[in-house]
Amino acid sequence: MTRLIVFDVDSTLLAVESLDFAVERALAGAPDGAGRAARLSAITDQGMAGALNFRASLEQRIAIAGLTRGAVEEAREALRTKLTPGMAGLLARLREDARVMAVSGGFVDLIAPALTDLGFVPGDIHANSFIYDGAGLQAGVSGFDRDNPLSRSGGKAVVVRALKARSGAVHAIMVGDGMTDHEAYAAGAADAFIGFGGVTERAAVRAKAPAWAQDVPALARLLTG
Ligand SMILES: [Mg+2]
Repeated sequence: MTRLIVFDVDSTLLAVESLDFAVERALAGAPDGAGRAARLSAITDQGMAGALNFRASLEQRIAIAGLTRGAVEEAREALRTKLTPGMAGLLARLREDARVMAVSGGFVDLIAPALTDLGFVPGDIHANSFIYDGAGLQAGVSGFDRDNPLSRSGGKAVVVRALKARSGAVHAIMVGDGMTDHEAYAAGAADAFIGFGGVTERAAVRAKAPAWAQDVPALARLLTG
């Protein structure tokens, strides 16, 4: 395999942001759910404005979210219904002659079943992982694996560079909607970048992307043409 294609997950393979999706579901029935949702959205805005780095944003969102293992398990099943339409077929075609991986700043605890439905095996999924404060469904998410490079800014470039080296691929292509995906290309870890606007169009990413796909058929043309 001379070609490695690395897909972002949230708002690329999935039609939602998985952590936000899980938190919204958990807060819907929680005490002070509306107040916590408002604080979460303020943090998301700070992150997008560049006022908060990725790790600080992750720490604050997890602290406010108050997710339990039960809420995570409920959300990860629901996420299986949020696959971006058309991606399953495209991935199957790409796997005929390329290595395909998923690299996410989200959490494997939430995205693994959906990615399994999309044909990814565990070794092809790279994401953060939660730490719980106990056993059982009522145990809370108390943190995340801090040694994982994906839990900090610039982490996708580190992981994509390692995956390319390990796979022996000559050419690595990054596909995603976000600035962290573009950064993997800007840092030289990926040789090409395709911005994906089929779920959310981020103007700052589109402005920098050397190639852009507005939907899955356009992405298919760029990757298989
Ligand atoms: Mg994304």
